[in-house]
Amino acid sequence: PDSSDSALLHGLNAEQRAAVTFSGGHTLVLAGAGSGKTRVLTTRIAWLLQTGQVSPGGILAVTFTNKAAREMTTRLSAMLPVAVRGMWIGTFHGLCNRMLRAHATAVGLPKQFQVLDMQDQLSAIKRLMKQHSIDTELFEPKKVQYFISGCKEEGMRPENVPVHDAESRTRVELYQLYEQQCQREGVVDFGELMLRSYELLRDHPAIRQHYQQRFRHILVDEFQDTNRLQYRWLQQLAGEWDNGQLHTHSSVVAVGDDDQSIYAFRGARVGNMADFVRDFRVSQPIKLEQNYRSYSHILDCANALIAHNRQRLGKNLRTDQGAGEPVRISEAYNDLAEADWISDEIRQLLRQDGFPHQEIAILYRSNAQSRALEAALLRAKLPYRVYGGLRFFERAEIKHALAYLRLLENPWDDTSFLRIVNFPPRGIGARTLEQLQDAAAQHQQSLHEAVAHVPGKAGEKLRDFTQLLQELRQHNQDQPLRHTITAVLETSGLLDHYRAEKDGVDRVENLEELVNAAESFIIQEGFAADTTTLPIDEQGRPLTQSPASQGLLPDQPLEPDAGNMLQDMGMGYRLDLETGETLSPLAAFLTHASLEAGDNQTQAGQQAIQLMTVHASKGLEFDAVFIAGMEEGLFPHYNALNDQAGLEEERRLMYVAITRARKRLYISLAQQRMLNGQIQGNQPSRFLDELPEGSLKWLTPRQRPASAGGYSASSSRSHDKAHAPWREAVQAPVPVRKSQPEESGGLRVRQKVFHTKFGEGVVQAIEGAGNDRKARIDFGRHGSKLLLLSVAKLTPVD
Ligand code: ATP
Ligand code: MG
Repeated sequence: PDSSDSALLHGLNAEQRAAVTFSGGHTLVLAGAGSGKTRVLTTRIAWLLQTGQVSPGGILAVTFTNKAAREMTTRLSAMLPVAVRGMWIGTFHGLCNRMLRAHATAVGLPKQFQVLDMQDQLSAIKRLMKQHSIDTELFEPKKVQYFISGCKEEGMRPENVPVHDAESRTRVELYQLYEQQCQREGVVDFGELMLRSYELLRDHPAIRQHYQQRFRHILVDEFQDTNRLQYRWLQQLAGEWDNGQLHTHSSVVAVGDDDQSIYAFRGARVGNMADFVRDFRVSQPIKLEQNYRSYSHILDCANALIAHNRQRLGKNLRTDQGAGEPVRISEAYNDLAEADWISDEIRQLLRQDGFPHQEIAILYRSNAQSRALEAALLRAKLPYRVYGGLRFFERAEIKHALAYLRLLENPWDDTSFLRIVNFPPRGIGARTLEQLQDAAAQHQQSLHEAVAHVPGKAGEKLRDFTQLLQELRQHNQDQPLRHTITAVLETSGLLDHYRAEKDGVDRVENLEELVNAAESFIIQEGFAADTTTLPIDEQGRPLTQSPASQGLLPDQPLEPDAGNMLQDMGMGYRLDLETGETLSPLAAFLTHASLEAGDNQTQAGQQAIQLMTVHASKGLEFDAVFIAGMEEGLFPHYNALNDQAGLEEERRLMYVAITRARKRLYISLAQQRMLNGQIQGNQPSRFLDELPEGSLKWLTPRQRPASAGGYSASSSRSHDKAHAPWREAVQAPVPVRKSQPEESGGLRVRQKVFHTKFGEGVVQAIEGAGNDRKARIDFGRHGSKLLLLSVAKLTPVD
C-alpha cells in the first residue's frame, strides 16, 4: 500500500502524522496532555506494520501501566489483523520479566523465579533484620526498603554504594544480605527485575545484539517518568555505543510531557528527556499543540496553573472544541458534606446529562480520602470502583492462597513459607519458628529443608506441613490450573478457615474469584489447548531448531516472530521456541499475580464510577472529573509545602488531574476534615488562586485565605450535620472565633503540648465539652490543627 495514503493517517494533524511516519533515526515527541501522544504511538505501530516496515516481533513498546498495555494491544488488534502476541508491549517491569524468563540461567536465576511485590519485599526485609538482630527503631524497615529500591533504580549493587559512616555501612550490609536472601530463595523484587535485565544486556554482548537486531522499532510512552536505570536499559537495547556515538539500525520514538512528571519520589528523572535529545541526536523534537480531549475552560485552567512552574520546557495547548461549561468549585464545611455534594452532582450527571458511570471519575491526592467518598457513594447507592488501595492480589486471603501456590512451584521461597506455615493455624508457634530459622541459618538451608533438623513434637508439626505441600505438589502435577487452585484452597484448610469466620463471606468469595482469575488468565494468555502448534518430534521438541534451546545464542538473528512462537506441550505447559524454556501455567499465573497487583480482576466494576489517586489517573481520560480535597496541606501535600521542587511537582500533579477531564470538571474542598483520627481545619489550596477567574464558577461563596481566619468547630458545624444537603452548609455562618475559657481541664490556651505525629505545638483555643472537646493547636511547620481531645494523644510540655 502507498504508505502516505494509509487510512490510518486520516484524521491526524500534520505534526501527529509527522510523528507517526517519522523515519531516519530517533525522535522525541514533546507535547502537553491530551494532544494525542499515546494515540500517535499506537498509530505508529499500526502504520509500521501495515506498510510492511516491520513484523510484529520487531516491535517493543513501553507503557506506564499494564492497563495501558492492554489498551494499546486491543486498539491495535482493532486496527489491523496482527498477531498481537508477537509484539513486546508492556511496562518496563513486564518486559524485563519476559526477558529474564528467557535468560534466567544466564543471569543466575532459577527458571521458575518468583516476583515479590512491595509488601512481600517489606516482609522479607523485616525477616532479615530480625534474623540479624538489627534494631528496627534505628533502621526503619520501610526506609531500608526505600534505600534498597533507590539503589537499584540508580543501577547500584551494594559494592557500588558509597559508605561514609557506621550507619551507611549497616544499610549497605543490609542491602547485601537482602540480595543474598533473595538469591537463595529464588525471588526478585521489582527493582531487581529491571536491574537484572539491564545487567543481562550489558554483560552479554551476544544476547544484547540479538535483541538489538530484533527490535527495529522501540516506542516509549510517558517518557518523562522514566528513571535512570530504565533509560540505560533503553540505551542498551537501542544499539551499540561507542564514545557516546550510537550505532544502530533501529529507531526509538519517545513521547512525553515534562509538565506531567509526577514520580520524582520514585526516582523518575525528567532530565532523561534532555539526555535523550543529546544522546540520540534528536535534531528537532516534534511538538503537538492541539488538544483533542478537553473543552477550553478546562484547558485554560490547566495552562494557567502550570504557567506558575519555573522548571519547564515550555509549550502550550489549544483546542478547537469550544469553551464548554466553566469549572465548578464548591466548598463544604467538612469532608462528609463534600462527599455528599459530589454524589449529588454525580446523580445529576447520570440522570440529567446521561453520562455513563465509568465516564465519571473522582480523583484525590491521598488514598485516605477515599473512605469518606466511598461512604457517600454507598449511601447514594452509586456503584463505584476504587483503583489502587487494597487490590485484589494484595488482599490477605489471596496472598495466603498465592503463598501455597508459590511453594508448590518453588519450595525455597521462605517468605511464602513463613506466611502460611501456621496459617490456617496448626499449632506451630513463634518458638518453633525461631528454632527452625536458627537451624536454617546454621545449615545454610532454606526453611523447608531445615524442617528435618527440628526435633520433637514441634518438628513433627513442621513435617506435617511440608508433607501437605509435598502431597499437593504430587497430586497436582499436570492438572489444569483451576484444579490445582481449588485443591490448594480445600486441602490447605484456607476455605474452611474463612467459612468458619463470622465475617469471612467476602474472603471466601475472593478466594473463589481467584479460581476465575486464573481461568481467564489461561484463556487470555493462550494457555488453552488451541495455542500455536508447530511440528514436534517424539520428545516434544520443535522440529525447527531453536539455537537458544541448545543453550547457545543465536549466531544469526532469529526471524522476528520466532521468539513468540509458543508451543503447546500438552497439559497447558508451553515451550518458548526462542529459548527452549518450558513454562507451567502456574508459574505464569503467579508472575501475572505479582505484576498485575495494580489491577482489579473482577468485571463487576464495568458500570461504575471510578475512584483513584491523581497519580493513578495518568494517561486516562473521563467525561467528568471531580478533584476532591483542594486544600493546603492536602493538595499541595504538606510534605511538599516547604520546598520549591516539591511544590512544582504538586502543581504538575494538579495539572495531570485537571487534564483528565473531557467535558466537565468539578473541584471541591472542605473547611474541616477528619484525617488520622484528627479533625483538621485547612486553608483553601493555593492552586485555586492560580486558576483563571473567567473559567471558574464558584457554587459557594469564595473564601479568600486572607479573610478566612481560623476555622472553628462550633456545634452547628460538627460532623452530625454531615447528612444535610450541602446548600445548608453554605448558609452556615462564616465561623467567628469565640472567646475561649482560659483554663480547661488540664489544657489551657497558650500552653505548649507535644503530639506524637505533629511534634510540639501551642494551644490557641479550646472549645466544646465532654467527648466533643476540641483544641486548636498551632504546630508551626505542620500548620494549625483542630484536634478532638478524646482521640488525639497530647502531652503537656513544661
Ligand atoms: P496524556 O498526556 O494525558 O497521556 P496524550 O497526549 O497521550 O494525553 P491521547 O490520550 O493520545 O493524548 O489523546 C487524547 C484524546 O484525543 C484521545 O481521546 C484521542 O483519541 C483524541 N485524539 C488524539 N488525536 C486526535 C485527532 N487527530 N483527532 C481526533 N481525536 C484525537
Ligand atoms: Mg498518553
